[in-house]
Amino acid sequence: MKSVAIIGGGAAGCFCAVNLKRMAPQLKVTIYEAQNKLLAKVAITGGGRCNITNTFNNYKDTSGKITRLEEVYPRGTNLMKRLLMGFNNEDTLRWFEELGVRFTAQEDECIFPKSQDAMEIVNALQREIKRLGIEVITGKRITDIDTLKEDIKVVTAGGGKSLSFLSFLKNRDIEIEPLHPSLFTFEIKEKELTQMSGTVVENVKCFIPTTKFKSSGPLLITDWGLSGPAILKLSSYGAVYLAENNYCAPLSVNWIGKDMDSVIKEIKALTEQNPQKKLSSVAPKELTQRLWSYIIKRTQIREDIRCNELGSKGLNKLSNTLFADSYKIEGKGRFKEEFVTAGGISLKEINSNTLRSKKYEDLYFAGEVLNIDAITGGFNLQAAWTTGYTVARAIASL
Ligand SMILES: Cc1cc2nc3c(=O)[nH]c(=O)nc-3n(C[C@H](O)[C@H](O)[C@H](O)COP(=O)(O)OP(=O)(O)OC[C@H]3O[C@@H](n4cnc5c(N)ncnc54)[C@H](O)[C@@H]3O)c2cc1C
Repeated sequence: MKSVAIIGGGAAGCFCAVNLKRMAPQLKVTIYEAQNKLLAKVAITGGGRCNITNTFNNYKDTSGKITRLEEVYPRGTNLMKRLLMGFNNEDTLRWFEELGVRFTAQEDECIFPKSQDAMEIVNALQREIKRLGIEVITGKRITDIDTLKEDIKVVTAGGGKSLSFLSFLKNRDIEIEPLHPSLFTFEIKEKELTQMSGTVVENVKCFIPTTKFKSSGPLLITDWGLSGPAILKLSSYGAVYLAENNYCAPLSVNWIGKDMDSVIKEIKALTEQNPQKKLSSVAPKELTQRLWSYIIKRTQIREDIRCNELGSKGLNKLSNTLFADSYKIEGKGRFKEEFVTAGGISLKEINSNTLRSKKYEDLYFAGEVLNIDAITGGFNLQAAWTTGYTVARAIASL
C-alpha cells in the first residue's frame, strides 16, 4: 500500500490526513473534498468561535476519570470510551497548542480558542496540510470508490449528511443505521408560553413520559417553543424516538429542577413568609415574575389569591405544575449554532480498535459518518478528532 484516499475534507478527514502523513511520511495522502474548500463546517462551528472540545469535568468521577459517557454520546458510548483512551480532549488541546493555538475553558466547561475565532483552527490545519505535502482535490464528490486506484486504502469521512455518497456503501452490503437530525428545538403550540420568548430558567429537569429520555440544565423559551441546553440534550437522547414519532410526543417540565418534597417545602415556606401578599407577587427565586404568574394561571388558581388563602389543596396543585408541567412537542426546529446527524455506518460493521471495515479491509471510517453523535459542548468535534486520529494510527501501523 502506497496511497491513502481520504473522502471528505472536514474535521475528521483533515485531522486524519495530517496525523497519517506525520506518522507515515512515505505514504501519498490525498484528500477529496466535494466543496471548493476544506473545513467549511469547522469555520462556522460554535457560532464562528469553534467549540473545539470540552473539559469533560461534568462527566468525571472523583478520581478524575471520564465516566457517564452515555450522557455525552447517546450513540457510540462504548466505542468513544475505548477510543478516548487513545486520543482524548487533552490530547486535542496539546496537538493544536503545538501549532501555536491557545485555548480558554468557559464556566460551562466548553473549550474555545482564546482568539474566539474558528478560522484559527482551520488555518492551523491547512498550514499543516500544505507543509506536509498532502494532496488536496477540491470540487470532487466521490461517488464510487472503485474509480480510485487498487493499491490504496480509503478513509470515508464524508460527514453525517453524505447520504447519496453513502449509497456506494449500501451496494457493498454495509449496514447503515437510519439517519436522523439531532440537536433541535421543540415546537410547542402554547401561545401564553411562547409570549414569554427570551425567558431563561436556569435549572429545569425535563423528560419524555413513557420513555427513558430525560435531561436537565438551562431552558430557554422561544417564540416557537422551547430551546436551551436541557432541550437540546433531550433532543439528542430522543433523536431516533422523536423521528420515529414524527416529532410529536408529550413533554414534562420540572420548572425548578427539584424533587416533589423540596418543591412543596419551598412553596410552603414562601407562602408562610408572605401571608398577606398576593401569591403572584412572590415568585420562587428560580423563576421570573412573569413565568410564575403563568404557572399560577396554568394551575387554574385565582390570579389575585393571597398566600394565606392557598390552602393545602392549592399548594399541592401548584407544586404538581411546578414539578411536572405537561406539554406537547408538535415539531422540531433547527438549532442554529450546531446540529448533527444521528445514525450512519453501523458500529457493528467496524473494528473498534482501528475503525476498519470488518468486510472490506481497505476501508476505514472517521467522523460523523459513523453512528456516533453527541450533545452540544464540543463533544462532536472531539469525536471527529478522536476517530480521525485512530484511523491515522491504524493505517500508519500497517
Ligand atoms: C452550524 C454548526 C455548528 C457546529 N458547531 C460545533 C461546535 O462548536 N462544536 C462541536 O463539537 N461540534 C459542532 N458542530 C458539529 C461538528 O461540526 C461536526 O460533528 C463535525 O464537523 C463532523 O466532522 P466530519 O469531518 O465528520 O464531517 P463534516 O465536517 O461534515 O465534513 C465532511 C466533509 O466531507 C465532504 N463530503 C461529503 N461527501 C463527500 C463526497 N462524496 N466526496 C467528497 N467529499 C465529500 C463534505 O463536503 C464535508 O466537507 C456543529 C455543526 C454545525 C452544522
